[in-house]
Amino acid sequence: MESNILRLAIQKKGRLADKSLQLLNSAGIRIDNYSQQLLIKAQNFDLELLFIRDDDIPEYVQDGVADIGIVGENVILESEKKLDVVKKLGFGKCRMSLAIPKQFEFNSVKELEGKNIATSYPKILKNYLDKNDVSANIHYISGSVEITPNINLADAIFDIVSTGSTLKSNGLKEVEIILNSEAVLVANKDISEEKKAILEQILFRTRAVNKAKDNKYIMLNAPNDSLEKIIHLLPGVKSPTIMPLAVEGWSSIHTVIGEDDFWGKIDNLKSAGAEGILVLLVERIIA
Ligand code: ATP
Ligand code: MG
Repeated sequence: MESNILRLAIQKKGRLADKSLQLLNSAGIRIDNYSQQLLIKAQNFDLELLFIRDDDIPEYVQDGVADIGIVGENVILESEKKLDVVKKLGFGKCRMSLAIPKQFEFNSVKELEGKNIATSYPKILKNYLDKNDVSANIHYISGSVEITPNINLADAIFDIVSTGSTLKSNGLKEVEIILNSEAVLVANKDISEEKKAILEQILFRTRAVNKAKDNKYIMLNAPNDSLEKIIHLLPGVKSPTIMPLAVEGWSSIHTVIGEDDFWGKIDNLKSAGAEGILVLLVERIIA
């Protein structure tokens, strides 16, 4: 009989490992003693974790060895595996760019015609060059791609960039961004209905946490004749709670406001007459 435990593949060690576990943790899924084992069952959820190298995740999920996985879009594209992308996760952000020695000029990708380009991502690069009708010699290098122009192994590189400091310290400049990438949750194309339901439960929980992160609970006092103006300043709220204060002519307003331009909103509320503003963290929002 097929197991009804959802199996999630995550990176064992590296840039995505901690954040992947944090995501589960925030969804209230408890994983103990994960450091030693390859496969481990969550304490309180129908989920088991498979800890592997990130490069192996697309294949494991496509082949059904794992049902779902957390991996960078760059790795998925390079793998050319067929997967459902369920959700962008907002971490592991980076871009993949072409870079050349800083003393050279660069006007167009056409200038790479016939040149040697080193990369750990030959398929993504080849697709890009094909699309632009450029034929170059792609040299696959598994790591430290950024040193290849200095040792005359390549004229240009195609690599992951986050701050650009690695490029800079190797005398290179970024000339073209080809791809923006972040960690995503992927799923096997034909997981069972039961497993889909477990996945939906995880998504439901993470949505509640994420929504809470983007919002604050706010309480403020205001004279009754400013209420209308203040309510008007609270966007996206269906109906704030308004309670009379013990002091005649004053009310307290409680509501949830978005994190974006938080201080701008506070300034506006103050100008509209709000006083004694209290702001509280929200742990979950179940919409
Ligand atoms: P593994 O041992 O699992 O193969 P790795 O060395 O291939 O690990 P990491 O360096 O841990 O991988 O990076 C994992 C992913 O993190 C990358 O594929 C990419 O999606 C993302 N990432 C985000 N920022 C960066 C960065 N500055 N450099 C490299 N990867 C980054
Ligand atoms: Mg890897």
